[in-house]
Amino acid sequence: MRLLKELPMKTSKALVFDIKRFAIHDGHGLRTTVFFKGCPLRCRWCQNPEGLSKRQRPVYFEKTCVHCQRCRDFSDLVIYTHDRPYFNYAKTDYTDLIKACPSGAISYDSQPYSVEELIDKIKEDEVFFKYGGGVTFSGGEPLMQGDFLLEVLKRCQEEGIHTAIETTLYAPLEFIKQVLPYLDLVYVDLKEFDEKKHQEYTGVSSKMIKEHIQYILESTHRDKVIIRTPLIPSMTATDDNIKDIANYLVHIDPEVKYELLNYNPLASAKYELVDLQYGVDRQYKMFNKKQMQHFYDIVYQTGLKNLIIE
Ligand code: SF4
Repeated sequence: MRLLKELPMKTSKALVFDIKRFAIHDGHGLRTTVFFKGCPLRCRWCQNPEGLSKRQRPVYFEKTCVHCQRCRDFSDLVIYTHDRPYFNYAKTDYTDLIKACPSGAISYDSQPYSVEELIDKIKEDEVFFKYGGGVTFSGGEPLMQGDFLLEVLKRCQEEGIHTAIETTLYAPLEFIKQVLPYLDLVYVDLKEFDEKKHQEYTGVSSKMIKEHIQYILESTHRDKVIIRTPLIPSMTATDDNIKDIANYLVHIDPEVKYELLNYNPLASAKYELVDLQYGVDRQYKMFNKKQMQHFYDIVYQTGLKNLIIE
């Protein structure tokens, strides 16, 4: 189990691996989504494997590589084999290697931002926020950013920017209580109800996640919460799991908003970039309308009414 005392981090700069502009699925209106590095979970199907490590790491883009082999000179940082470099992730500084690559095939996976640098970046899209948009913090697990996240949220509130977060709530409750007043929308993942399977699929216990979901749904912040379950074939997408999660939620708050996220197999392509193994059989596809309706019916049978269907 990952050490909770490591979370959240205290840092004056945060590593951001992507800033997606004009996103439409991460909250109300047109949104700017900020993806932070670092996650305490290791979900087998993670959609953003480049955000798992909290460290800045190098990435290799095969399509841009001109196979000049200059990177071969940095034998402490790469092993060059099968006509491409493989990184030694035990090292931390790859700046000279990146500079030496003539085609940009090697770069860092993320960039450090100070609070003000990030706010300036977010404010570039300010014109869209007036029409119901805002900023969504994602990752990775944004709550791992600790005081940095809190500071950014406070600044967003001062600027009148609508804020959303995509989180697992796998963080100390005291910290969650600190950030909640500065959030307008909170997406929480509850992926698997069975404790043993949760451990197996995500690498961590579900106990604290469930406790924090209960806390938030019984708090004055309940109306801003949407609980989500990603439907992963042969793992979370089972009748029992959907029924158990919906039953659990409806007993805490019958008005809870709940969403089932269809499986997205496209993320599997990212795994080669970061030298990680995708943990779902690649034969699986998205669920069709009939299959999704089957899962919706299971939820409705528990008495849960506020099911979000896109
Ligand atoms: S230096 Fe860059 S372009 Fe040349 S072989 Fe290495 S990765 Fe490819």
